[in-house]
This record gives sequence, structure tokens and C-alpha cells, in this order.
Amino acid sequence: MGLAGWHCDLSSWPYLLCAQDSTQAPPAGRTPQGSCLAMPGSTPEAPGSHRRGLTDRAGGGVKRLGPRWPLSPWPHQAQWGMGKQPGMSAPNAWLSPGSLSLQVWEGRWRVIPHDVLPDWLKDNDFLLHGHRPPMPSFRACFRSIFHLHTETGNIWTHLLGFLFFLVLGIGYMISPSINYVAPIQERIVFGTFFLGAILCLCFSWLFHTVYCHSERVSRTFSKLDYSGITLLIVGSFVPWLYYSFYCSPQPQLIYLIIVCVLGITAITVSQWDHFATPQYRAVRAGVFLGLGLSGLVPTLHFMLAEGLVQAVPAGQMGWLLLMALLYILGAALYAARVPERFFPGKCDIWFHSHQIFHVLVVAGASVHLHGVSQLQAFRSSLGGACTESTVL
Ligand SMILES: [Zn+2]
Repeated sequence: MGLAGWHCDLSSWPYLLCAQDSTQAPPAGRTPQGSCLAMPGSTPEAPGSHRRGLTDRAGGGVKRLGPRWPLSPWPHQAQWGMGKQPGMSAPNAWLSPGSLSLQVWEGRWRVIPHDVLPDWLKDNDFLLHGHRPPMPSFRACFRSIFHLHTETGNIWTHLLGFLFFLVLGIGYMISPSINYVAPIQERIVFGTFFLGAILCLCFSWLFHTVYCHSERVSRTFSKLDYSGITLLIVGSFVPWLYYSFYCSPQPQLIYLIIVCVLGITAITVSQWDHFATPQYRAVRAGVFLGLGLSGLVPTLHFMLAEGLVQAVPAGQMGWLLLMALLYILGAALYAARVPERFFPGKCDIWFHSHQIFHVLVVAGASVHLHGVSQLQAFRSSLGGACTESTVL
């Protein structure tokens, strides 16, 4: 399969802001100049004139002044970012809930190039354009869901996945008890899987939505996002171990304890501030891949105990293998940043590695659910009986 000639960008998407004078960071203490990040009709201001403009805005001159502040990325970082810089009171007042200025701000932001992003928003330098500027307003962040930018695909892939598993999970929980051999136990087992999937996908779309709010919010939600991945992996182990070692409670319990301990360790590691930085991309992929691959031990145990011929159909190994391949492919693309590595600037909005990774996570979780549902059907067909002839 060749990559030559493959195009994945929108050839004429209108959101790109280009500006010769806005692609270079301004000197320390200075604000960027130029018309690229300003709205049409506004005129360049002299260095350090934001304060003057702010005073005028506070007086209600929205149209006259234009949203120069919101469209420029640096003032957010330098003066709004954490709300701790000198002179913050005025911008905060300007962005007070319900103010006209805030509404203007929310509706008028434009995407910006990677070069002008503050460091805490720089994640993937193969995505050259189409980034949201820092937007210290949750309302603006959530409204950006309906705009085209580098995170649009990331948000929607997991928002839709979240709704999908939420509806399925409710369906499983309220299905008649006659479908289960041990209704309470099995609902808990499936409920653990659905809880892991729902939390993972929910934390993920929330993270990608508020990622541009501020450094502090981005850091907090990235930890939730990574914890969610661990919850999905651990939640996936639970029904699989329950049904695979249905008649062997001792190894079943040991494996469940081990995966919980590994999961707690992964969540603890992901609380480390540097874990979310671009330099640790491969480490992140490795931690979650390692957690998932720890399932090789119980898989080999199952195959040795049952024999390959019986284990493959009885253990739904085909579905398990497909799930593993989807997750591994997703993690590999994510770590290597393929395909955007080969087409810098061409996959800014659609088909970049993080989006593909998101789709593969939803696909992998769906395949896993199908596999464990088949295992459950197999146990139900035996009436939950454990005899000499039954598998583990
Ligand atoms: Zn993500």
C-alpha cells in the first residue's frame, strides 16, 4: 500500500490565518503586531496599546475597537493565562460572564498557526495550521465543538463513542435477568466494562474540548484523559477474565487483582506533570500498551490449559486478537504521528494520527464487547455449569 498521492486535507478550508508578522513570537514583554490575527477593518495598534483598547472596550465600544485582544494569542498566555499577572483585573472584568465583550470574544475567534501557539498548547508540530488560540472561557471552548480546527475530529470521535457506549450500557443494565445466569454478578462485570469505556470516552472529549482553556485546565484534564484510558483497559479485562476463568475462581481472582494493581500504577504515573508533555509521547504509548499486553499472561494460561484447538473458539480468541491489533495499531500511529509526519500541514483538520487513534479505540472497545458477549452467551448455553468437561 503506497502513500504517494494520498491527500487528506481540505484544500481550501477558510479558517487558516496567515500572517507574515504573526508567525514569529514577539519579544518578551511585547505584544504581536499585524493584521493577520485582527478582524477585518481594525487597524494595527502601537506596541503596548492593549490597555488603552481595553479601557475603550469597557466603555462599550465593541464595534469600534474590534476583538483584537481575543484574536491575538500572546496576551492570553502572558496576561490572562493563569490570572496571576499584574493588571489582570481589567481583562477579567472584560470577560465577566454575560458581558457583551465576552459574547464577541466567543463568536469571533479564529484558528492560528502552530508557530504562534504558547508552549503549553504545542503538542504536534506536524499540524501546521488550524489550532484554536488560548480561550480562557469554558463557554467558548464548548462552542468551539461546532467549529473546524485541529481538535474537532478528536472531540467528535469520542463524543459520539461516549454516547454509543452510554446507550449500549444502559441497554445491558436494564435487559431482562433471564439473559443472565447470575444476573447481579454479570451486570456488575459488564457494568465495569461500560463504566470504563464511558469514563474514558467522556474524559477524552472533555479534555480535547477544554484543552485550549488555560495551562492549568489543560494539565488537569489531560490527567483525567490518561486515567480514562487506564479505566477502559482495566474495565475491559474484568468481563473477559470473569468468563474465561469462569470455573477457576482462584486464577480469576489473582488476575483481577493484578490488573487492578497495574491499573492503579498507570493512573499514578499519569498524574506526573511531565507525563503529558510531547517528549513523553512514546512513554505514554508504552505504558498503556504494556498495561494492555499484560493480558498475554492470562491468555497463554487459558490456551495452555485448554489446548489451542479448543481455546480459540471457546475463548473468542479471534475477537481478542482483532481488538489487540486495533489498539496496538492506534498506539503505534499515535506514537509515530503517522500520517501527518509524511504530510506536514496536510492533515491539520482531518485524518491526523490522534483522530485515527480515537477511532481505533472506539472500534477496539466495540470488538471487545462483542467478544465478551459471545463468551457470556457460551456460559449461558451451559447454564453456568462447571463440570470436568467444561473449560476453565
Ligand atoms: Zn485523545
